[in-house]
Amino acid sequence: MIPQQEHHGTGPGRSVETLVIDFHTHSSASDGAISPEDLIARVAREGIQHFALTDHDTINGYLAVRDQVPPGLTLVSGVELSCQWARMGIHIVGLGFDPEAENFVRHLGELDAARLDRAEQIAERLAKSGMPGALAGAQSVARGAQIGRPHFARWMVLAGYVDSEEMAFKRFLGRGKPGDISVLWPSLEVTVRAIKDAGGVAVLAHPLDYKMTATKLRALVAAFAEAGGDAVELINGKPKPGDIAILWRLADAHHLGVSVGSDFHRDTPYGAALGVNTAEIPPGRGVWERL
Ligand code: AMP
Ligand code: MN
Ligand code: MN
Ligand code: MN
Repeated sequence: MIPQQEHHGTGPGRSVETLVIDFHTHSSASDGAISPEDLIARVAREGIQHFALTDHDTINGYLAVRDQVPPGLTLVSGVELSCQWARMGIHIVGLGFDPEAENFVRHLGELDAARLDRAEQIAERLAKSGMPGALAGAQSVARGAQIGRPHFARWMVLAGYVDSEEMAFKRFLGRGKPGDISVLWPSLEVTVRAIKDAGGVAVLAHPLDYKMTATKLRALVAAFAEAGGDAVELINGKPKPGDIAILWRLADAHHLGVSVGSDFHRDTPYGAALGVNTAEIPPGRGVWERL
């Protein structure tokens, strides 16, 4: 993680610790490698102050740890919801919602069913490409987690069809490939409403990862704001030079707040560490001020 820095200039003899936040992480309840229990213990050890576990379309990990939060850590409810907009798969991070809200629980149930339908369709398409047995294979990799494309990718490596998970995405599972099926997801509007109706904050996740044209991306952010969305994800993992300036312009154009997270799934040599230092974010813009 990024070490806590002292923030100077707040008055003589005073310094205020800057907040270290992580509002985008995954555990083994979806496609992360670390159990929710181990992840929350590590996050606390690393001095992160505000944390959300945002597994894909499930809050099972959050429910497992919410009553065992280590001292000094503020745990916020979280999830990364799959939805579709303009026939593309889009991710919306929900934070600080009531996990028992009836409409929200129903929404998660619908996503469970959609994920299973989608997994069956992915398996059919892989079978047509000469890889039979993918559904059972991916399910055995997932071991009860919310099933997703990374579990198919892992199975394809284990079964010897590809050399790496990266290759599985590049050839079969990534954007525009046969295993990329987003039509089963609920709409962006319904998804934002499910979070808002449960009292939560809706964040447009990693806007620059959808590889849209600038015009299309502006239309997405406009649709998200129109639907009642609250914030754009300003920092997701390791931003490239220039990313943050583009995202500030998008947020400003629609009077949206900002959120930050590592999108941590596992330790990798070049991956982002847990925790984001929020020293550079002006007061009044961070979603953590609204939770
Ligand atoms: P799903 O939620 O089933 O649609 O799977 C999406 C997940 O797959 C993302 O959250 C990433 O963790 C992972 N992913 C997406 N693209 C790639 C890629 N090119 N290589 C490896 N993992 C990827
Ligand atoms: Mn993922
Ligand atoms: Mn995502
Ligand atoms: Mn994510």
